[in-house]
Amino acid sequence: MYDVNEIRRDFPILSREVHGRPLVYLDNGASAQKPRVVIDAVTRFYENEYANVHRGLHYLSNQATDRYEAARASVARFLNAPGPEHIVLNSGTTLGINMVAYGWAAPRMGPGDEIVLTVAEHHANIVPWHFLRERQGVKLVWVEIEPDGSIDAEKVLAAITPRTRLVAVTQCSNVLGTMVDVKRITEGAHEKGVPVLVDGSQGAVHGPVDVQDIGCDFYPITGHKLYGPSGSGAIYIRPERMAEMQPFLGGGDMIEEVTRDHVSYAAPPLKFEAGTPGIAQAIGFGVALDYLMELGMDNVAAHEAKLVSYARERFKALNWLNIQGDAPGKAAIFSMTIEGGGHAHDISTILDQKGIAVRAGHHCAHPLMETLGVTATARASFGLYNTVEEVDKLVEGLEMAHRLLG
Ligand code: PLP
Repeated sequence: MYDVNEIRRDFPILSREVHGRPLVYLDNGASAQKPRVVIDAVTRFYENEYANVHRGLHYLSNQATDRYEAARASVARFLNAPGPEHIVLNSGTTLGINMVAYGWAAPRMGPGDEIVLTVAEHHANIVPWHFLRERQGVKLVWVEIEPDGSIDAEKVLAAITPRTRLVAVTQCSNVLGTMVDVKRITEGAHEKGVPVLVDGSQGAVHGPVDVQDIGCDFYPITGHKLYGPSGSGAIYIRPERMAEMQPFLGGGDMIEEVTRDHVSYAAPPLKFEAGTPGIAQAIGFGVALDYLMELGMDNVAAHEAKLVSYARERFKALNWLNIQGDAPGKAAIFSMTIEGGGHAHDISTILDQKGIAVRAGHHCAHPLMETLGVTATARASFGLYNTVEEVDKLVEGLEMAHRLLG
């Protein structure tokens, strides 16, 4: 039984006030709040257990290493990867995608080779590919969204040519909430021999993920959106791609032997984790994922689906409110503008005065904003602890914004 009020008690920050009003936190798409178990695990680590990983032979170092490796195992379970050795721990999706761009894509792509993207990608899944375009003459091939904001998997597949070397697509748009059929895209791309990177930064937050079922080659995720610490994250890499990948960062921890004229590397995944990692962050991340698995991602998905249908119903009555994206099965992300007036920043400021936190701006998705013909939206993004009462408060706040700005 999913008792959202009981779950809310796990998140200390949710009981605070902002501007004298109870906090209504609807900026989960940017970053989610942390449950007590995560905060405690990080505090405990610093207060009582801190040491560096992998290098020491002393008690604390061994324990820190065990905790760090337990986090890797939690990521593997969360994503249903075949094992922890397929998981590289890092600081988040941006690092994961850059690692693929530098370590895997750059060495195997030249002028005229193509990467297929959708216009709904976050800059994290665009800019690293622009580097390859600028530096190596790689061509970016863009797939448009449908009028309701959905992404047609068959159109993504139709964009593949004999020069396509990679399909890089989000599982969930951080602006539209659109969920993408990444399993179909992977299946179709693989039939044509093309690897697929699925940006799981938003997708992994809203429901269960099974990377083996999706079948993708790369699946980066973001710890801070998954109720873990900032600066945490991971990427699942399919074994064939892991074997092909070169290390992106060099340094300590990722080597087997270094001489004056030779270097050999540690076995993956450590080969891809140069330097001292975010140890506390990774440990907190593992605990966050254990917490989510205990709640059950199916239950989280069902709860958020209820919020989506309730919000859709309430928004219907607001005929001056424009919501970007209405794809079937969309995640609990609503990007809004008010007809006839009001910059998104003004909407956000008015909501803030009522204790409601939403994000306003371009959401790191310039090509999508250009496609939609807007410069900015106010985005309410819901998480596992949000309630229908908070949807009501949002509607009240929007009505006030409309009165003031419309
Ligand atoms: N991809 C998508 C779809 C996102 O929404 C975000 C963050 O907003 C990112 C990538 C970047 O993730 P990170 O903060 O882990 O680098």
